Amino acid sequence: MRFSRMATMSKILASHLPSMRTSTRQLSMEAQNIADRLKSSSFFRTQGLIGGKWTDAYDANTLKVNNPATGEIIANVPCMGRKETDDAVSSAYNAFSSWSKLTAAERSKYLRKWYDLLMAHKEELGQLITLEQGKPLKEAIGEVGYGAAFIEFFSEEAKRVYGDIIPATLADRRLLVLKQPVGVVGAITPWNFPLAMITRKVGPALACGCTVVIKPSELTPLTALAATELALQAGIPPGVINVVMGNAPEIGDALLASPQVRKITFTGSTAVGKKLMAGAAGTVKRLSLELGGNAPCIVFDDADLDVAVKGTLAAKFRNSGQTCVCANRVLVQEGIYDKFADALSKAVQSLHVGDGFSEGVVQGPLINEAAVKKVERFIEDAISKGAKVLLGGKRHSLGMTFYEPTVVSDVKNEMLLAREEVFGPVAPLLRFKTEEEAIHIANDTNAGLAAYIFTNNVQRTWRVSEALEYGLVGVNEGIISTEVAPFGGVKQSGLGREGSKYGIDEYLELKYVCLGDMNRK
Ligand code: ADP
Repeated sequence: MRFSRMATMSKILASHLPSMRTSTRQLSMEAQNIADRLKSSSFFRTQGLIGGKWTDAYDANTLKVNNPATGEIIANVPCMGRKETDDAVSSAYNAFSSWSKLTAAERSKYLRKWYDLLMAHKEELGQLITLEQGKPLKEAIGEVGYGAAFIEFFSEEAKRVYGDIIPATLADRRLLVLKQPVGVVGAITPWNFPLAMITRKVGPALACGCTVVIKPSELTPLTALAATELALQAGIPPGVINVVMGNAPEIGDALLASPQVRKITFTGSTAVGKKLMAGAAGTVKRLSLELGGNAPCIVFDDADLDVAVKGTLAAKFRNSGQTCVCANRVLVQEGIYDKFADALSKAVQSLHVGDGFSEGVVQGPLINEAAVKKVERFIEDAISKGAKVLLGGKRHSLGMTFYEPTVVSDVKNEMLLAREEVFGPVAPLLRFKTEEEAIHIANDTNAGLAAYIFTNNVQRTWRVSEALEYGLVGVNEGIISTEVAPFGGVKQSGLGREGSKYGIDEYLELKYVCLGDMNRK
C-alpha cells in the first residue's frame, strides 16, 4: 500500500501533462475561493494551543501567513515568545503524569482515531498545504497520506514497547530493563513538509507516553494547527499536544532552558541544529536532529537510462527541489553522460510549472524570495566557474517565486551548487570516470543524509551502498521515504532516526531494575 503511495508520487513527478497557463489573476481568485472554503471548515485554526485552549499571543502580536504562489495573506497567527512557551511546557508537563500512565492500548486508540480523522480530511488538509507551502495539490495530498501514516504506524508500535529480562549474574537476583517515556518533548519543524515533519515526531512521542510542545515553522503554521485541532477532536486530552509559534529563537531558548523539557526533536537547517545542540547542553537534554543533506545521485554507465532519468527526476524535483533528501549533485559516469544529460533535460523541460492548484502542475513556487535569490546566487557562481546551463537557469515568466526547472552541466565539486544544498529545482551534473572516484566525490561533504545510485550491477550495488557515508541509500529508485523505514543522517546531517520500529527508541529511556534477595522464602 505504501509502495503504491511512493509510486504515485513518482508518477506525479514524471507525468508530463500539458495544461493551459493560468493568469495570475485567475490563480489568485482560485486560491482565494479555496482559502474561504477552508476557513469555514471544522479544523481551520489561527491561534496557538496551550493546555487545550486556543490562545492568542499574550501581547496580542500577530504574524502573517502568505500564499507563496500569490503573495496574498491567508491568515494572521499569534506571534508568541517565551511566556507562552513556558506555559505550554507547564501544561505538557502536567499532562505527562496522566498520559504516560494510560495503557499502551488506550494511547493506541487515540492515535488511531487521529489517523482516521487526518485521512477523512485528506483533501482539505492537502489544500491547506498547497495554500501555505505551494507544493502541487496532488503532492500535498500525498504528503497527508504519508504524514498520517506515521500516526497509524506508531498507534500500532505503541503496543510493542517491550522491556527485557537479563540473565542474572548472581542466583538471588533478577535483572530487568524497563522502557519509559522521556517526558516532555519540544518538537521544532520546518516548512517543506508542514504535516509530515510533525507527525513523524509526535506519533512516536505520544505512542510511548510523552507529551509535546510543537513549534511549527512560522511560514506554514496552519497545517500544524489544523492537524492539532483534529487531534483534539480525536479525544487526545488537553495538554498532551501544545502548539506555539512566533519568535523562533525566543521559543527555542525557552524550550532549551526548561528543565521540564527532556528532549528536543528538530528538523531544519544545520546551522539552527548546531545552536540547539549547544543549547541543550545547559540542561543535558536528549536530541534528535534531522539536518541538511547534500545528496549525491550517482548514475553509472551500466544503469537503465529510463529508470535513471525517472528516478533522478523524482529525487531532484519533488517539492520543487525543496527537501533535505533531494538529489543535490547528479554524478554521471562519462560513458552515459551525454545521453543522460540529453534525456534528463527533455524530461525536465516537460515539467509543468505553476500554481499548485492548477491541473497538471508538478512544480510549484519556491517558498519565498530569499529561496529564489539563493538559487540565483548558486547558478551565478557555477556559471562563473565554467558550468553550462542546459535548461532553465532563470526565474519563471510567472513571476513571484517561480523558478524554471533547470539542468546545469560541467559542475565541479568545489562549486556552491555541489558544496551546499540549493533547495530549488536545479539538477547539477558532475562527470566521473571510475566507481572509486564517484564514491570519493559523493563522500566529500560534511552532510550524510540520502544518496541514490543507478546501476544494474548487483555487486556494485552492494559495494557502493556500503561505501556511501549516508543514512539512506536509494538503489534504482528516487523516492524512498516511508514510515516503516528508519530516516536520518550521519555526519553533520544529524542524530537519531525517525519512523520505523527504531524511531520510537528516540522517545524512550531505559531503566535497569535489579531485584535482590530473591531466595528469601
Ligand atoms: P529552514 O531554512 O528550512 O527554514 P530553519 O532551521 O531556519 O530551516 O527552520 C526550521 C525550524 O527551526 C523552523 O520552525 C524555525 O522557525 C525554527 N528556528 C529557526 N531558528 C531557531 C532558533 N534559534 N531556535 C529554535 N528554532 C529555530
